[in-house]
Amino acid sequence: MLCARTVFRCFRAVEHFADRLTGAAGPYFVGLAVVLITAGALCFFTVILPSLPFSLLTVPICFLIAANLYLHYLWVCTMPPGFADEPENPPDRTVAGWLWGKRRGRMQNTTISPAYVGNCAKCGSDKPERTHHCRICKRCILKYDHHCPPSGINQCVGLYNERHFVLFMIYFVLSTACFSGFGYQHFFLALGIYPYDWSYFLPPWVFVLVYLLSSILCLAVAIMLSFHLWGIALAETSVESHDFPAYRAKAKSRGTTFVNCYDLGKRQNLQLFFNVGPLGHSYLTLVLPLRISPYTNGRAWAKRHGLSRHQGIDASDEFTDDEEHSIIP
Ligand SMILES: [Zn+2]
Ligand SMILES: [Zn+2]
Repeated sequence: MLCARTVFRCFRAVEHFADRLTGAAGPYFVGLAVVLITAGALCFFTVILPSLPFSLLTVPICFLIAANLYLHYLWVCTMPPGFADEPENPPDRTVAGWLWGKRRGRMQNTTISPAYVGNCAKCGSDKPERTHHCRICKRCILKYDHHCPPSGINQCVGLYNERHFVLFMIYFVLSTACFSGFGYQHFFLALGIYPYDWSYFLPPWVFVLVYLLSSILCLAVAIMLSFHLWGIALAETSVESHDFPAYRAKAKSRGTTFVNCYDLGKRQNLQLFFNVGPLGHSYLTLVLPLRISPYTNGRAWAKRHGLSRHQGIDASDEFTDDEEHSIIP
């Protein structure tokens, strides 16, 4: 268990280092990402897809994956993450249009408690719990996860775009895995290993380059994704998963046990994050490129029965933004 936690923290550190490194590329990274994704799509749809069997089945599935990939990337880049100083949005905000999935019903069996609200010393905004001040955006972000340079110009991942962030990673891993899995014969053909001619309009070196990039990025993003999904299953944001080991140690030193008050069990944590299941939207919203609102507007949170705050620590033990942001940008 100790070893798993150490590995977890090492990957977190690598992820944060990568965030800083890519931050140097700034907005150019978005353009580069769009070019790379488009190059990948072009290679896949012109070279690999025509050779796949059962075209009536595989073609629509591949187009659906591509639509999810592009749209979730667009939304994570363009949707505001949720600023604490803006007017409250109702949690059941319904926006007309086909992009928004319809909600099944209201949450009846889950207790949603109003959030404790503090005040930000840096920007003066109200600061409901789980809100953090982003020193890059210079604003308070509801359910702040991290500031993600690859996702756009100073764009935070927070309450309203975190679902798109994770779904983008899921579809990125899925599409690059399909590219690598179904394209290896074309890769060998492009390298000249097979005794056949390269008969596609794309130059073989482009395919080789995109194939190699796709395989490497598939692995890298899959590792990032697995840690994000594990954090979601534990009902922890990136900031919280960084803080909680210290809270656990503090609680242990007092002879008690730390309990995350947002942790309702892995299954329900995942359902709440994606806002699907018996209490939320249809599971179909995970496979169709739809925008849906989170279950909360960031001013109230579903909490473990009987807990209004984390068990095992006092409110004064919780880290401030200064301490957190010394490590997480
Ligand atoms: Zn602030
Ligand atoms: Zn930010």
